[in-house]
Amino acid sequence: MNDDHAAVQAAMAAAAQATGGMLYPELAAQSDESVVKEGRRLDHAEGTSHPIRPPSEPQPRGARVRGNRRVSQSEAANRFIAATQHEKMHDERLWDLRQKRDRVMHRIPEWEELRSLASAIKEHTLTHLDEYLDQFEANARSNGIHVHWARDGAEHNRIVHNILRDRGATSLIKSKSMLTEECGFRDYMASVGVKVIETDLGERIQQLDNEDPSHVVVPAVHKLRTDVAQVFAKTLGTDPGNSDVHYLAEAQREATRPLILKADAGMTGANFVVAETGTFVVCTNEGNADLSANVPQLHIASIGIEKIIPRLEHLAVFVRLLSRSALGSPMTQYTSHFRGPRAGGEMHVVLVDNGRSKRLGMEEFWTSLKCIRCGACMNTCPVYRRSGGLSYGATYSGPIGLIIDPTFNRHKYSALPFSSTLNGSCTNVCPVKINIHEQIAAWRKVMAENHELPLMKKSAMKAAGILLAHPTLYRAAIASADVALNVLPRFAIYNRLNAWGRHREVPHAPHQTFHSWYRKNRGTQ
Ligand code: SF4
Repeated sequence: MNDDHAAVQAAMAAAAQATGGMLYPELAAQSDESVVKEGRRLDHAEGTSHPIRPPSEPQPRGARVRGNRRVSQSEAANRFIAATQHEKMHDERLWDLRQKRDRVMHRIPEWEELRSLASAIKEHTLTHLDEYLDQFEANARSNGIHVHWARDGAEHNRIVHNILRDRGATSLIKSKSMLTEECGFRDYMASVGVKVIETDLGERIQQLDNEDPSHVVVPAVHKLRTDVAQVFAKTLGTDPGNSDVHYLAEAQREATRPLILKADAGMTGANFVVAETGTFVVCTNEGNADLSANVPQLHIASIGIEKIIPRLEHLAVFVRLLSRSALGSPMTQYTSHFRGPRAGGEMHVVLVDNGRSKRLGMEEFWTSLKCIRCGACMNTCPVYRRSGGLSYGATYSGPIGLIIDPTFNRHKYSALPFSSTLNGSCTNVCPVKINIHEQIAAWRKVMAENHELPLMKKSAMKAAGILLAHPTLYRAAIASADVALNVLPRFAIYNRLNAWGRHREVPHAPHQTFHSWYRKNRGTQ
């Protein structure tokens, strides 16, 4: 240890002592020998530093998904909330994205006009979907692209497998695609012996951890750096005690690049498909879609049929909204246009329905097809921010998940529409103006009408219905509750049965209700 380093440590120890030992006690306590080499302090990029970190907390896992049984989001959310470091980090990280979104939005005076325009373009396209899909197919074919149609996830997987098998391809690099998550693509490919390598960093972390993405834009946002360090230590052989982001990112890059360079085929999704040109656009911040599309000779794009827009000029509207809504940045780092196969290469597009036509026919829910997967509704949702995306036990989480997931399986996801405060913030931030909170409320009605409510909720709602339908009974109940709140001892009010009171105080009962005041003062009017 050289003199400078010893002086720094002594100063830190003195500062810690002066502040009652509260100044980064873990730094003062640990030996810092390993970050200094030949008298020089190594920086993080050299992968040997020990960043400050609290004792790590095990990562809470997602909802328990068992066949067709109803998924309990609240059970998984409870476990996530109990993991306080995760819950705090997740809440703050996503709220930060929401605030960044607000800041960039305020710099665009025509923001609301853009939202209305985007919503109208989507509405027009969805109501003429067959025409625009036909137009895209014809133009894409004339650009030299092979176009396939898949009714559902199983057909999509078979089509992709056939393309790969016919060309002897056994490894595939792919960029992030929620559609392939819907289709159970990775599991299927593993079952037929095709090795799939995710190229998006967050998605790769999730793949190595055998978990689904927890957010449509930032798939591993629920993980602490220490969680990633554990995953990489197990799968890539890195130092489990080193959670430095540069070290982890570099280790992942070194492990994955050789796989990318020798892959037989590449796969991307698409953010937008342009009917008039027969082309498609992929937006990423890591440039990984460009690797997937350009390194191998064979490029396959899996695209949901709702991604279509009529004209190239419409793209400007969506590109201005997408990244600002998602991450609060003016533009994605890479906005790549794919117009056809490169010289000597092959390009395939698989247009996937997987329940979208059925959803288009659902009077109250068809506008959910306008979604451009920006994640803004998730970032603003108080329930999502505090419970983590994996607690929903479905491909899509947060507010957009609440209105899409039940279209795939009404019974299994029947509890999800109740995981919302219905505060309307999701609707306010949605760049394509989907009335998300109204659709969530409509789904609750559908669940009640189809007897999909759990017994407890059903009984409670029934009791509330009787109470609200009988004014005398209601007033008597309110009066008794007021008395009870004033006279009962604290333990009788704040116990396991009172979930609401677990994190907050029950309000004081008013001395007089509005009804009794009205009768007393205006009773005769
Ligand atoms: S519903 Fe709206 S806010 Fe939510 S992901 Fe889709 S486009 Fe974004």
